[in-house]
Amino acid sequence: MIQIYNTLTRRKEPFQKNAGEKVTMYVCGPTVYKPSHIGHMVGPVIFDTVKRYLNYVGYPVSWVVNITDVDDKLIVRSRELNTSVKELAEKMTADYFECLKKLNVTGIDHFPRATEHIQGMIHTISRLIEKGYAYPANGDVYFNISQDRDYGKLAGFDPEELDAGARLEPNPIKKNPGDFALWKAAKPNEPSWESPWGPGRPGWHIECTCMAMSLLGETLDIHGGGLDLRFPHHENELAQSESYTDKPFARFWMHNGLLKLGSGKMAGSIGNVLNVETALKHVSGGALRFFILNTHYRSPIDLGEWDPREPNAPPIPPNLAASAKAYDGFLRLIERFERISKQKWQTLPVADRLQPQRTFHWSLLQGIYSRFVELMDDDFNTGGALGVLFELAGHLNRLADQENLETPAATETGLKSFHEGILLLKELGHILGLFFETRGNLGGDDSLVSGLLELIIELRNNLRAEAKKIPSKDDPMKKALFGQTDLIRSRLAELKVTLEDRPSGTTWRIG
Ligand SMILES: [Zn+2]
Repeated sequence: MIQIYNTLTRRKEPFQKNAGEKVTMYVCGPTVYKPSHIGHMVGPVIFDTVKRYLNYVGYPVSWVVNITDVDDKLIVRSRELNTSVKELAEKMTADYFECLKKLNVTGIDHFPRATEHIQGMIHTISRLIEKGYAYPANGDVYFNISQDRDYGKLAGFDPEELDAGARLEPNPIKKNPGDFALWKAAKPNEPSWESPWGPGRPGWHIECTCMAMSLLGETLDIHGGGLDLRFPHHENELAQSESYTDKPFARFWMHNGLLKLGSGKMAGSIGNVLNVETALKHVSGGALRFFILNTHYRSPIDLGEWDPREPNAPPIPPNLAASAKAYDGFLRLIERFERISKQKWQTLPVADRLQPQRTFHWSLLQGIYSRFVELMDDDFNTGGALGVLFELAGHLNRLADQENLETPAATETGLKSFHEGILLLKELGHILGLFFETRGNLGGDDSLVSGLLELIIELRNNLRAEAKKIPSKDDPMKKALFGQTDLIRSRLAELKVTLEDRPSGTTWRIG
């Protein structure tokens, strides 16, 4: 049974749902005014993995991520770029989608745009005014937190303490300093919509309430987002929604930890933001996903000390680089499998359902499988689950070494166990959304690069074969031929291509 830590109750609770019943999940998406940085990928990767695991145990999931395409930041940025809010939003939304694709985030079913739901928001706001939870003031509409008896329950704040904090910025038109805008009167030259309170646009919090309810119903199973959204954004979403429906807005509130750089944080204002596009010039999408999942989702994800403004700073933070190296170990194992079996990883079948009474021919896999499931059941402990995959990879490599699986001496039993372990690696990797790419297709023009390398290897092997035919090791021709094969190897090494001569033939890898 899956246990999920619920921010609302501050404890782990069993996630109960009838088998086969659809799970509804809403996760707050981006405000699309800048290209995505790697922090924007944390939530999508985590909740994509949550969805994959829920699917795996048998629940279909309907998952919504909203796109905030009207907002102060968009208005300011579009003016700086001398473009329209709409154009900027479309361009940055396309960038966001591209990043999701690169990280194998495939589970999002709907991406509602705030601007497509304005009428629903106006309706909800009107109803909140009728019910006495909201009031118009000077063309704005505010939510009155003193009318909501349990305001502060998600963040665990007392509204009076909030008021004390909020008093730093007094606003004479609000009834309580903590009241927040549901509707904002339009300023000149801003995008605006007609409403009963005059032209304006919705506040950010009401966007999520309306989009979540219109696509997933009044009570969500899971509402997710970054820990920084817990207050005020999620508190306010919850207050509006429950005041509007008199029903719980979400059964489980899940909050993911944020990225940090050693002792510091990553922020545009500091100038140390790493965009996804830049990161992907140095690591693969799978490696970036692997890095995110290597930490428990509720903990901060530490990139390590890194300041790109320093001269000679490495192109990516140290912990991301280390993660990419670890991930590469899995991809090398996958290459090894392809050499051994002469099969392509991509064509292997993948089991996509939990099998509680499962037995394995290679008994060692039993423990691997049950521990993976236990860890994922325990509040989606992906870091622990990756630890289990490391163990599995270690067992597979040792088996391949001990049983000489890359040579004609390989036994049927050895090959059978290896294959079974590889299938399990694919299955568990798939739950985490990993190993979707292989080392040969990590970038560039794949078929051309591999074609050219195969040609170079063939020519080099011909030279080696000619050299071996000459018996005397002092023969100048023999030396010249080996000189050429060494030259090929070292020149390729300069291009970061490594050749590996094995009994089964020569292989290449980048890096
Ligand atoms: Zn939201």
